[in-house]
Amino acid sequence: MKPTSATVLEIFEEICQIPRPSKHEEQIRQYLLQFASTHQLAAQTDSAGNVLITKNGNTPGICLQAHMDMVCEKTPETRHDFLKDPIRHTVEDGWMHACGTTLGADDGIGMALALAALLSDSPLRLEALFTVDEETGLTGANALQAGWIQSPVLLNLDSEEDDEFIIGCAGGCETVARYTVKRSPLPIGMFGVKLKIKGLRGGHSGSDIHLHRANALLLLSRFLQAEAQKFEVRVVALSGGNLHNAIAREAEAFIAVPMRQKEQIRIDWNIYWSEQEDLWLADEPQMLGELESATLPNEALDEALGQALTDALAGCRHGVVAWSTQLPDIVETSTNLASVKPLTLTDEPEDGSEAVTHEFIEVCTSQRSSDEAELSRLAFEIYEHFSAHGAQPYITGKYSGWAPNFDSPLVSQAVGAYSRLFGQAPAVKVIHAGLECGVFRQIMPQLDMLSVGPTLRDVHTPSERLKIESVGKIWRLIGELIQYSSATV
Ligand SMILES: [Zn+2]
Repeated sequence: MKPTSATVLEIFEEICQIPRPSKHEEQIRQYLLQFASTHQLAAQTDSAGNVLITKNGNTPGICLQAHMDMVCEKTPETRHDFLKDPIRHTVEDGWMHACGTTLGADDGIGMALALAALLSDSPLRLEALFTVDEETGLTGANALQAGWIQSPVLLNLDSEEDDEFIIGCAGGCETVARYTVKRSPLPIGMFGVKLKIKGLRGGHSGSDIHLHRANALLLLSRFLQAEAQKFEVRVVALSGGNLHNAIAREAEAFIAVPMRQKEQIRIDWNIYWSEQEDLWLADEPQMLGELESATLPNEALDEALGQALTDALAGCRHGVVAWSTQLPDIVETSTNLASVKPLTLTDEPEDGSEAVTHEFIEVCTSQRSSDEAELSRLAFEIYEHFSAHGAQPYITGKYSGWAPNFDSPLVSQAVGAYSRLFGQAPAVKVIHAGLECGVFRQIMPQLDMLSVGPTLRDVHTPSERLKIESVGKIWRLIGELIQYSSATV
């Protein structure tokens, strides 16, 4: 039986039954190996847990690639165990979405497309590569051995617009700053205040960084900094943001101010918040700022630490740093002030003496650039900023970008096929987010690559949805690409 887009959706349905959080890909790997054995295809795994399934053919063909893991997010009221429960989903107005959880079409639909292609009667030698742990560290891609895949071209199936071809992406890194927590007693006569900012839209630090969106950590720390210039402000606790690749949507601070300023801070907050609403409300319709009084503990962060942290955050660079000079409307370099979280580390001495715990406040920022040198320069600038404000910073999680090849035979073959099929050319783009292709480029510099995928919305959130019609579109495109080899064009 010839596979169709209905086959792709049936396979996706099966994939939805299988739990597959990042770093827990055992079950989905078993499914893939079982799929290969059922269809008498050769399959292998590597030490990282990646899976390669091969369908033999006469000519060197194409490697179709997707990642096995998914981002696990749910709404607060949803009960779902991502390690055990299948993803339940429904279809509404042509869009498939899950019930209170991420759908996992990122990248389950890519896996389904690759598996369906293996069932086709393509004359080419086909490979389907499934990587582990794309979402939390690109671990699978990084562990890939050169020579494991033999195709001269690779089609990555992890993009999110059915009318866009991605031919390049930014590289990135994180700059993390740790503050060692020191506390000291609060003076008598202080008043406790909790400030909360919530309801901001946030967004992805790659694809949304150029949009007019507020950062909760910046809004909050700038208020604290201004107040600290007027009277004593002691920070009891400060936190906000969540993922390193998301713009901070929420932040909160617990502070102490002199009792006689308890009305003043309320007045100042109301003025400040209404100014922020004037600036942002058009783009941040749900923004909410709250102030409430709270009972103080005996201690707060040491005065110097509270001030250093506030100043570091309030003065931290955030947003677009440079636009591309070659491509219109493409961000070249950016930085994201992502999160501030408490962190406790325990030292367990080998001699059996008592464990020692260390308390930190950890600030996470992430940088991206399609220019390696700019990326290093910017990360170092952020590093220096936090270092000058009393933190111990370090740079981590560096991944490479994928510089576009405007002469790629694969891209020109795919643009031709797409234009014939749909009567118009796709948009060919470089994105400011990361893709596994950046890592593949480092390992296999000769590999000709392109990234495509069906249309998804709100990935990495419980509103993630898949436009069903677009699956058929990408399936038809793949059908064309596996008929003849671009490597021999
Ligand atoms: Zn993905």
